[in-house]
Amino acid sequence: MILESQRRQVVEHAPDLAALTPGRTGNLSVRDGNSGDAFAVTPTGVPYDSFGVEDTPVVGVDGEHRDGEMAPSSEVPMHAAIYRREDVGAIVHTHSPWSTAMAVAHEPLPPIHYMIVAVGKRVPVAEYAPYGTDALAENIVTAMDEADATASFIENHGLVVTAPDLETALENTHHVESLARLYLQTKAAGLEPRTLSDEQLETVLEKFESYGQ
Ligand code: 13P
Ligand code: ZN
Repeated sequence: MILESQRRQVVEHAPDLAALTPGRTGNLSVRDGNSGDAFAVTPTGVPYDSFGVEDTPVVGVDGEHRDGEMAPSSEVPMHAAIYRREDVGAIVHTHSPWSTAMAVAHEPLPPIHYMIVAVGKRVPVAEYAPYGTDALAENIVTAMDEADATASFIENHGLVVTAPDLETALENTHHVESLARLYLQTKAAGLEPRTLSDEQLETVLEKFESYGQ
């Protein structure tokens, strides 16, 4: 079976989307390495715990469905466009509520907390286009490029996060969601969120190089 381990990761982690995004919204994918020419992706419009490894679609970075019983996510153009442009191994897309509130307000997330460096120095907002279109894919890639970020809100839609592997992409999706919540709750309290300076963010990036066990 082609891309068996990537398909297994999709099946194992698709249920994690339930904690992030309502109903059957959102999708995730795992690439064949950080520069491989194909990826495994969630099937379109099904509950996250209702499909198996053989059902899981495999798609080329050209967007062509190569294998798997089920039809792939409608956001294949977005996943494929990101993989063609960036050396990343996984992508998570959600309609997580706090991030989507930012997306609805067309509000980028400034560096209000040091954890932002998990995805860059800010989270930009990609211009609206209908879901599943090449135009939306282009807007997302452009927004991430311009902000030098691995996450972007999508106007009136949601959030997308890229990372070297699926666990990191899911973890960083939770980080962005939590930062969007902090930002909006600070504003809702009538307070003005203060931001970290570029120099302060650079120091965090240096410290992160040796963080952990
Ligand atoms: P799929 O079920 O086709 O992946 O679509 C969900 C979604 O969030 C579209 O933007
Ligand atoms: Zn969506």
